[in-house]
Amino acid sequence: MIVLGVESSCDETGLALYDTGRGLLSHALHSQVAMHEEYGGVVPELASRDHIRRAIPLLQQTLEEAGIAAADIDAIAYTQGPGLAGALLVGSSIACSLGLALDKPVLGVHHLEGHLLSPLLASDPPEFPFVALLVSGGHTQLMRVDGVGQYELLGETLDDAAGEAFDKSAKLLGLGYPGGPAISRLAEFGDPAAYKLPRPMLHSKDLNFSFSGLKTAVLTVVKKQEAANVCEQDKANIARGFVDAIVDVLVAKCVAALKQTGLKRLVIAGGVGANSQLRAALNAAAAKKRFRVYYPELEFCTDNGAMIAFAGAMRLSINPDAARRDYAFNVRPRWPLDELKVI
Ligand code: ATP
Ligand code: MG
Ligand code: FE
Repeated sequence: MIVLGVESSCDETGLALYDTGRGLLSHALHSQVAMHEEYGGVVPELASRDHIRRAIPLLQQTLEEAGIAAADIDAIAYTQGPGLAGALLVGSSIACSLGLALDKPVLGVHHLEGHLLSPLLASDPPEFPFVALLVSGGHTQLMRVDGVGQYELLGETLDDAAGEAFDKSAKLLGLGYPGGPAISRLAEFGDPAAYKLPRPMLHSKDLNFSFSGLKTAVLTVVKKQEAANVCEQDKANIARGFVDAIVDVLVAKCVAALKQTGLKRLVIAGGVGANSQLRAALNAAAAKKRFRVYYPELEFCTDNGAMIAFAGAMRLSINPDAARRDYAFNVRPRWPLDELKVI
């Protein structure tokens, strides 16, 4: 069965073809980062308009790469939520129009389920059950995953998401948008002893996070240094202080979640999962505490169509009736993952 995946929840247009027999056939992505950069963040109206421009050429590209015709697609999975309403409407309407035109069933997919299952696309995928840390631009959650659609929330951020903390702190350091990768690169040159920033909720007895205080701590040191004319080395030192603090908290909570659940497999998903310092610290903890950690391929950490095609294919292989020839659609800009129905 060949599933077309359509992702348009934020500022990436992603199309992909996944075959339940042969695996991922092709995928194509357009990132709008350059377009939104000058505004310092995503402009929803511009995002929607750009998804309209990009989707069909990307679809043609994925079909050509896979060497199949549109008629060979068996079902179409699209991101129904959560995300920007206008951006979601573009992907949903394109997916449902294609379904109607090609007489193929369609299926709305939860964007975070796509992120969560993305490590299963890797060459050495984890088995269920596992603990998942979802660290993206909009979410930071620890989850127990017993199977497709079986998610139990163990803890989450009480304020900013990890990706948001990376982006906001990078902005304070004048590193542009999105600043996650930039602050991570700069941190490599920083002195870890220069700034010891707070590790919020590190010792709280639960599995929740809070990152807004860390961002405020970055603001405070940046302000202090600006008064004394912040130099490049100091910027790198602050970046290092920030990255070390956030990585410490993320790793400690993952270890606590594994202990609480008694599980030995940890899966990392979402854009911050691409972070090299986080990966290094998790790998070290895994070796020490004897658990295994699984990551998505780097290109599937941030938003992409492959994870949506894959999540759709997983749902369809469990329940073939999950896709319908019902082309009326509604998007769900806010959609808690634990409201997702078990298949
Ligand atoms: P959500 O999935 O919660 O709706 P999103 O789709 O915007 O949010 P993702 O695409 O998963 O989030 O991830 C984007 C985030 O990942 C951004 O905040 C970005 O700064 C961060 N990010 C990407 N690469 C890195 C990196 N190497 N280090 C740190 N952060 C990174
Ligand atoms: Mg994005
Ligand atoms: Fe995402």
